Amino acid sequence: MERYDVVVVGAGNAALAAATSAREQGAGSVLVLEKAPKGLRGGNTHYSGGLFRFAFHTAEELKPIVPDAERKLPGFFAGVSPYPRELFRADLMRVTEGRSDPWLADLLIGNSHDTVRWLVEQGIVMEPAVSLSAIRFGDKVHWAPGAVVRARHEGVGLSERWFEIMEERAVEVRYESGALALLQNDAGHVTGVRARAAHGNVAIESHAVVLACGGFEANPEWRARYLGRPWDHAKVRGSAFNTGDGLRMAFEVHAMPHGQFTGCHSTPIDADAPPYGDRKLTDKTNRLSYPYGVLLNGRGGRFADEGEDFQFYTYAKMGGIILNQPGGVAWQIFDSKVTDLLEPRYKTAKPVVADTLDALIAQLPLDRDAARATLQAFNAAPRRGRFDPTVLDGLDAAHLEPPKSNWAQALDTPPYYAYAATGGITFTFGGLRIDEQARVIGNDWKPIPGVYACGELVGGLFHHNYPGGSGLMAGAVFGRLAGAGAARFAAEGR
Ligand SMILES: Cc1cc2nc3c(=O)[nH]c(=O)nc-3n(C[C@H](O)[C@H](O)[C@H](O)COP(=O)(O)OP(=O)(O)OC[C@H]3O[C@@H](n4cnc5c(N)ncnc54)[C@H](O)[C@@H]3O)c2cc1C
Repeated sequence: MERYDVVVVGAGNAALAAATSAREQGAGSVLVLEKAPKGLRGGNTHYSGGLFRFAFHTAEELKPIVPDAERKLPGFFAGVSPYPRELFRADLMRVTEGRSDPWLADLLIGNSHDTVRWLVEQGIVMEPAVSLSAIRFGDKVHWAPGAVVRARHEGVGLSERWFEIMEERAVEVRYESGALALLQNDAGHVTGVRARAAHGNVAIESHAVVLACGGFEANPEWRARYLGRPWDHAKVRGSAFNTGDGLRMAFEVHAMPHGQFTGCHSTPIDADAPPYGDRKLTDKTNRLSYPYGVLLNGRGGRFADEGEDFQFYTYAKMGGIILNQPGGVAWQIFDSKVTDLLEPRYKTAKPVVADTLDALIAQLPLDRDAARATLQAFNAAPRRGRFDPTVLDGLDAAHLEPPKSNWAQALDTPPYYAYAATGGITFTFGGLRIDEQARVIGNDWKPIPGVYACGELVGGLFHHNYPGGSGLMAGAVFGRLAGAGAARFAAEGR
């Protein structure tokens, strides 16, 4: 039988951070099992925007992470506001309605900055997240708090770089080798995995196993089971391979579930997006500039406060809100005052365009009389304040139901644009309970010896919603811990 110090299940950001960390901490032989074929490798990480949210006290602290930033974007360091741990924590707690596991949140936040530095030391190249995070308004560039840095060439670049690092560190990556089950001895120690292989199923022994194989977003049966309707019909924004295998394998050895199993990350995407992520379009189907416009559903009504907060704090729940509208579709309506503010990703869409709101509505498949009345009421609503997309400007249309709390300019400048959006699922929130070494906790509240977890399949952090850039950060923090823990455990067992 084959034997390794550490077997890592999955080949996304969390898995490859774990494999790197395990090698760094002395694991002699590390095997990465990837269920996907080589051409589809890398999980959701490949499709991601590559954005990392992390804490820092001063913009100067970003210099070792993005040393070229000032040369490429003069004024960058002066334009970025500090993002101390307290602010990260407050953001996480606010958007999760106070439900993020405080201990896990602190582990993530407390390790976030150091782990980004570690990623750079390992060879991940970072850059300012211009197209995701920078808002140019007047002569000012505003950077979204805490979410200013991404991997170079986004998720595609991040994933490619991780696989190069695997080669540099002599980590074997085996494709089309989905793990099927954990091996466990009579003492309850996990001793390896059973996995698919070209010639049949094989058992692979290891001193420790790291589960890093994503959530269950690509499994319609589990979506129906845990998330309910209409999630079985949701389009998947990323990998088709994250079908809950790691959770199932862990539950088979009596792991403890943790977090919100009825919750997921889901964003507004192009209504015509493919059923699973497109390797080339990656995250470019996102439609996240709705705070500057008006959202209409098939009944012609508004259904959400488009300006509740900055997009990074509402986008991950807005997909679900849209998916729950009739037909799972909504139209984002903008006028020409804000077209310069639309994310560059809108260039991948074909909007409906017209010179009057009436003519725009006439082209949309919704209740047109109701939609016209909704837009008239929106435009007629009394407003206070001055439009400024770089702050929560308080320009509200507050007497409407639902209100629009910020950026509520009237739609009065032709031409007008309508973008059709649906809700695409990104990843699921329910997962495994881990401890400070990323050991998987059993349902007797004790660590299960020999098994670690990281990435999307860790539960407890995110509930209802999510602050943008936290998924990759959590994957890297817990991946690094899991790899180190697995290497130490392997050393004890050798
Ligand atoms: C379009 C899109 C944009 C995003 N943008 C961002 C962003 O900018 N910033 C951010 O923080 N987050 C972003 N996210 C979320 C982020 O991608 C995820 O949180 C993160 O990549 C998860 O990493 P992971 O390693 O846990 O999972 P993944 O990267 O999904 O990797 C899971 C791996 O497990 C493999 N696998 C599954 N089952 C098995 C099995 N049985 N055996 C072996 N292998 C298996 C899969 O093939 C895959 O390789 C985005 C996601 C999407 C889809």
